Amino acid sequence: MESSKVTIATLGSHSALQILKGAKDEGFKTALVCLKSRLKLYSRFKKLTDEIVLVESFSEIMSQEVQEKLSNLNAILIPHGSLVEYVSLEQIENNFKIPIFGNKYILRWESDRNLKEKLLREAGVRTPKVYSSVDEVDSTVIVKLPGAKGGKGYFLATNPKEIREKLRILNIREEDIFVQEYILGTTAYVHFFYSPLSDELEIISMDRRYETNVDGLGKIPAKLQLQSNPDLSYLVVGNIPIVLRESLLEEIFEIGEGLVRASKELVPPGFIGPFCIEGAYNGEGKFYVFEFSARIVAGTNLYVNGSPYTWLLYDEPMSMGKRIAREIKRAMEERRVKELIT
Ligand code: ATP
Repeated sequence: MESSKVTIATLGSHSALQILKGAKDEGFKTALVCLKSRLKLYSRFKKLTDEIVLVESFSEIMSQEVQEKLSNLNAILIPHGSLVEYVSLEQIENNFKIPIFGNKYILRWESDRNLKEKLLREAGVRTPKVYSSVDEVDSTVIVKLPGAKGGKGYFLATNPKEIREKLRILNIREEDIFVQEYILGTTAYVHFFYSPLSDELEIISMDRRYETNVDGLGKIPAKLQLQSNPDLSYLVVGNIPIVLRESLLEEIFEIGEGLVRASKELVPPGFIGPFCIEGAYNGEGKFYVFEFSARIVAGTNLYVNGSPYTWLLYDEPMSMGKRIAREIKRAMEERRVKELIT
């Protein structure tokens, strides 16, 4: 089948522009499920979109009308963070009529902290210690709140008393929090692409997040930090590019391969296409993984024109969006699209 007969669709947010551009570059038609309130924004990039499906809210993607429209376009939906945020996992798993690129069943594993820990353990990666009881806390920990988006409202503490005091103020129950060892170091978020067609893992790019207000805190002297005692926030406002020392790459590949292996065992068919690990190097240079995302992450938006890593593999600009489209195109040529969708 030719790529022009298939439409690559996505929700208008997160990494949509990059996904649309990549799809266009590979000769696909594109469709954007767009909020009425964001039509003006996406109209500024109108050459990237062939069809706009207007909705009041992203949850409307589940309506029969929108599903039918997308189905008539012969659409494959590329999931990203906003799909996971605005549509329930049950709906995605059971009621989605159009094919989703990737393994939609693994999205649950990135949302549920216990499943996430299970997959990371199975992959054999180094993770920060998790405290099952507040009473056990004996070092600096990061306390993760239920339903926090992008780390909003997370706080640091060093002992049980501090945690309980803070929870009382926030009116949050102890059993609802996730208490994890805080890795004092430098963060790195690695964007992988696993191709089921060639059984190969690529590092597409890397980033660090620019998070408010923790990234602002270091700019004021310690005395003022103590005086102002601000509530920390890890709200992501943007992404910063990084490359790793070349000697660190092998370990990162091994972590990625471990995750691919574990995902195949625990959630077959495992990762398909993009996934990301989030972690930090401590003072000894040991890497701890505290998160993974089982789909494209917004940090890849830095590399619409390719990254240092994709430039090594491809003699052309290659973004994550384009890499996804390239995989679908190849699968169509080889009549293997079923291996890429769920
Ligand atoms: P998202 O879903 O957007 O990834 P989230 O709500 O799951 O966000 P995390 O990514 O777990 O949040 O954490 C938000 C930020 O908190 C991270 O980017 C990092 O700066 C910091 N962080 C989280 N866990 C740790 C840890 N164990 N040690 C050090 N820093 C951490």
